[in-house]
Amino acid sequence: MTNDCRVSASSPVAPRLCVVVPCYNEEDVLPETSRRLSEKLDSLFGRGAISKDSRVLFVNDGSRDLTWFLIRTLHDDPSSMGLSPRQPWFSGISFAHNEGHQNALYAGLMEALDRGYDCAISLDADLQDDIDAIDEMLVKHDAGAEIVYGVRSNRDTDTAFKRGTAGMFYDLMAWLGVEMVSNCADYRLMGRRSLEALSQYTEVNLFLRGIVPALGFTTDVVYYVRAERFAGESKYPLKKMVSFALEGITSFSVKPIRWVTMLGIVSLAVSFIMVVYTLVQAFTGHVVAGWSSLMVSIWFVGGLVMVSLGVVGEYVGRIYLESKGRPRYIISETTDGELPRA
Ligand code: UDP
Ligand code: MG
Repeated sequence: MTNDCRVSASSPVAPRLCVVVPCYNEEDVLPETSRRLSEKLDSLFGRGAISKDSRVLFVNDGSRDLTWFLIRTLHDDPSSMGLSPRQPWFSGISFAHNEGHQNALYAGLMEALDRGYDCAISLDADLQDDIDAIDEMLVKHDAGAEIVYGVRSNRDTDTAFKRGTAGMFYDLMAWLGVEMVSNCADYRLMGRRSLEALSQYTEVNLFLRGIVPALGFTTDVVYYVRAERFAGESKYPLKKMVSFALEGITSFSVKPIRWVTMLGIVSLAVSFIMVVYTLVQAFTGHVVAGWSSLMVSIWFVGGLVMVSLGVVGEYVGRIYLESKGRPRYIISETTDGELPRA
């Protein structure tokens, strides 16, 4: 749909683009992903839409399979993977340990900023994000949008469960007052100014889908059809998805803690009424067996207390993790041999 886009003649110099691709155990998809990316960058460069020192930066998130070996090969000897040796498009950095998608993304974006790229596009390794949308993203960036979001035009490739829970999550976040771009995963273009702004966010627990819209700047969207994962399994099992959602909620809103307080006040008010009622019953001589009501209230109040403690605990846990100020990730290797900033 976007193949015939051209970058306007108004751009004096073609931008240096960095395509950031986080990878966790992606050996099954990397050969095809790199082939398509190489073709795409060749064609963008051929049309003068990007400069020749643009790069794809793979971030190996502590994979246990051949992912890092493949990334190194793509950098050292692309022709051995059937790619044209004409333009060396590929480079990579590798984490010593699996730190999660958001950290891998952030590391790639910060590397792009450090290495002086003009803009960065983040893209999943599994080819679910339509690579052809890059053309239109660059056009919109050239026309003045600092951030261009890739937005899914439908969710047909998702299971009904994922569609339903995603919808509920976006509604909840909107209700909590958190600005998010609906149906935008982490496929987006960011210019240098927004990358610089992002570098000032120091929290260890990252939720980029909430942080990036909060940066402000002029934004635009590009619609694309999200494909099925090309090969391999999703690296986001239900457990990771739940913790990702909790991350989103607790890192942007303290409203749930306020609800806990409100619940406490309400249950206190109810218990006062209960005390009065019980006293009246006792004085008027109506002694009720009361076992059932006692059991019901014990369970109800017990549940309420547990849930409330859980909510407070989520926040306390986040404070604990943030207060340690540990590094988000450690980069143990890079394809060009140089180790970046600590
Ligand atoms: N990913 C990562 N670290 C992780 C989990 C995932 O870098 O701990 C990468 C993964 O390789 C992929 C992207 O994040 O490029 C999105 O993951 P996936 O496609 O498995 O998620 P889904 O599309 O199923 O939500
Ligand atoms: Mg995917």
